[in-house]
Amino acid sequence: MARVFSGIQPSGELHIGNYLGAVQNWVRLQHEHDCLFSIVDLHAITQPYDPGTLASLTVDMAVSLFAAGLDPDKSIIFVQSHVAEHTELNWLLTTVTPLGELERQTQFKDKSQRQESVPAGLLAYPILQAADVLLYKASLVPVGEDQVQHLELMREIARRWNARYGEGYFPEPQPLLTKTKRVLGLDGKAKMSKSLGNTIGLFDSPETIWEKLRPAATDPARKTRKDPGNPDICNIFTIHQGFSPPETVAEVAHKCRTAGWGCLDCKRVLADNMIAALTPMRERADAIKREPARLLEWLRAGAGRARALAGRTIVEVRDRMGFLKAGGD
Ligand code: SF4
Repeated sequence: MARVFSGIQPSGELHIGNYLGAVQNWVRLQHEHDCLFSIVDLHAITQPYDPGTLASLTVDMAVSLFAAGLDPDKSIIFVQSHVAEHTELNWLLTTVTPLGELERQTQFKDKSQRQESVPAGLLAYPILQAADVLLYKASLVPVGEDQVQHLELMREIARRWNARYGEGYFPEPQPLLTKTKRVLGLDGKAKMSKSLGNTIGLFDSPETIWEKLRPAATDPARKTRKDPGNPDICNIFTIHQGFSPPETVAEVAHKCRTAGWGCLDCKRVLADNMIAALTPMRERADAIKREPARLLEWLRAGAGRARALAGRTIVEVRDRMGFLKAGGD
């Protein structure tokens, strides 16, 4: 069974954008592959953040992942900073990573432009990503379009390390290109993001879901009910594809193109399907929140299983790189 690694930043409770963009797919993957999913808090600190809320945002993300369907008996689910081997391999890989490649990364260029003083961690971000994946010798990485360049660099780092210290040791990770949905915010303009206030939370109540969905942007060309619409450019249709069964999705497309119904009718059907899908998740989240010790135990056990795999890799890597063994090893 192929090994899969993927990470998500501790941004608090999931919204439907990151659920449909990544986590819904992870829930499926855990039945098909040997999966590790990590809340990547070490990545999160490369951007300005509040140390006072990092831990609680990490807990909220963990609640979301388990409530959304990640199963601690099927996958290894853990917090990145709980497995110190990530930072050790990160350092070892910095020594084979070409600086020019890091500087060429589009995400680095974008993010560094927005900062007055650029921390080295932002530049080294893709090396930590490579360490995350190579530590477990994962061969598949689910990626969105914006991560393809980082994955290419990860493969380059693996090739360079292998060439110097052991041909074929690290597998070159392959992208797992699954069709995920890129959901825009409710304003229909930018990516769905908490900082823009354009999200629907995974655990929003039925009333809140409808309140947010009702005024949400649709195809702007549909000014009146009589105007036919184009579902392909409508964010509501994208969300339908994530929550409605295929026959409803087909019906939505037909009724939209033929002006067979109004946008409000379309949104009501979507709201009902979302509420049906999200209510069990909200109930699971409530149950998990009532037992915080159980949640922490799941994370502790996940980190233990991850550490067992990571520790083996680190011992082999240190050995191949020629370090003196510590006494007692
Ligand atoms: S009918 Fe539905 S898919 Fe078509 S524009 Fe309106 S909300 Fe979008």
